[in-house]
Amino acid sequence: MSYDCQTCGACCANLPSNRAEGFGYWVEIKPDDKILTRQDLLRKHVIHDPDGVPHLRLAPNGQCLALRGRVGGGKVACGIYHQRPSPCRRVQPGDGSCLQSRQEHGLEL
Ligand code: SF4
Ligand code: SF4
Repeated sequence: MSYDCQTCGACCANLPSNRAEGFGYWVEIKPDDKILTRQDLLRKHVIHDPDGVPHLRLAPNGQCLALRGRVGGGKVACGIYHQRPSPCRRVQPGDGSCLQSRQEHGLEL
């Protein structure tokens, strides 16, 4: 099956299993990721965990704050696509992370 990221967004939201383990952070930002050099994006989209590691900020509904639309709810898009951090770039439709994300968010496999 082929997956359409533009109607999905499951990997752009904290996973239920992650939340169940008490982790309120999702995508980790790596030191070389350019988003860390953009002060405007840094202020809005980056939050540090108690160990000082930067992550993308999540909206109260658990989705990445940069995600436009609702996971699995039709059209979605990344609002910071060209500055998205490296972990976002690594996930590929149909790979293990993708399938786990889709499954946990109740989307078709
Ligand atoms: S990579 Fe997979 S989980 Fe992420 S948006 Fe695309 S289809 Fe959805
Ligand atoms: S930055 Fe973009 S690609 Fe990365 S999790 Fe947020 S919405 Fe998804």
